[in-house]
Amino acid sequence: MVGSIAVVTFAFGAIVGSFLNVCIHRLPRGMSVVRPASHCPACQRPLRATENIPFFSFLVLRGRCRHCNVKISWRYPFVEGLNGLAYVLVVKQFGFEPATFVYALLLSALIVVTFIDLDHQIIPNEITYPGMLLGLLAAVTVLPISWWDSLGGLLCGGGVLLFVVWISPYIFGREGMGLGDVKLLAMLGAFLGWQATLLTLLLAAFSGSMVGLTLAVTKLITLKDPIPFGPFLALGATLALFFGAGLIDWYTGLFEVEGFRFR
Ligand SMILES: [Zn+2]
Repeated sequence: MVGSIAVVTFAFGAIVGSFLNVCIHRLPRGMSVVRPASHCPACQRPLRATENIPFFSFLVLRGRCRHCNVKISWRYPFVEGLNGLAYVLVVKQFGFEPATFVYALLLSALIVVTFIDLDHQIIPNEITYPGMLLGLLAAVTVLPISWWDSLGGLLCGGGVLLFVVWISPYIFGREGMGLGDVKLLAMLGAFLGWQATLLTLLLAAFSGSMVGLTLAVTKLITLKDPIPFGPFLALGATLALFFGAGLIDWYTGLFEVEGFRFR
């Protein structure tokens, strides 16, 4: 990828990331994401165009509101940078194809889901329901998976986690996860197809357990504390999107016998 294209892609991603910050703040509060225009969360004063430039404004204003001097969280530039990076990686991997725009949108949605779930332990239906529909539509049109693979992924992802939600109280004596996680994996299934969806769940369960155990061992949490699962589903889906085909080929290759492949 040419350097200048990477820079433009990153800048575009960062500008979208600035809107993602608005979504992360407003969606769980039931506020409109378009109106009113961005304002300081403390003094409510609307931001001028020059105070709303990704990174640049944060640096120039030294992370403070110019009006009331309240500290602005480092998370605002972090989310902008993360989305910029996501767009660069997705263009590098898939090129300028229609599917790339769908994947870019998916990664942005996952960034929003991650931070809302960390903050509020919810995953908004405003993202998962339209996401399921968009995933199915994209599979019919531009994604490299068939519509039945997409529908299979939706049903398979949602079904597996719904079963976990149903059975958890009987096995662990408490709820393992929420219906938001079920709907999120169903949505991911629509974008990724059933194989990558199961891979997503595997990677999410593995990374979630590792982080949970690490936090428990270091006494930052107890094993009884709930850990939001959404961020790990987002991480698993991102890994499955970028490395899924290779991982699935490698895994099925393990069972290759005399030229016959179990697929
Ligand atoms: Zn202010």
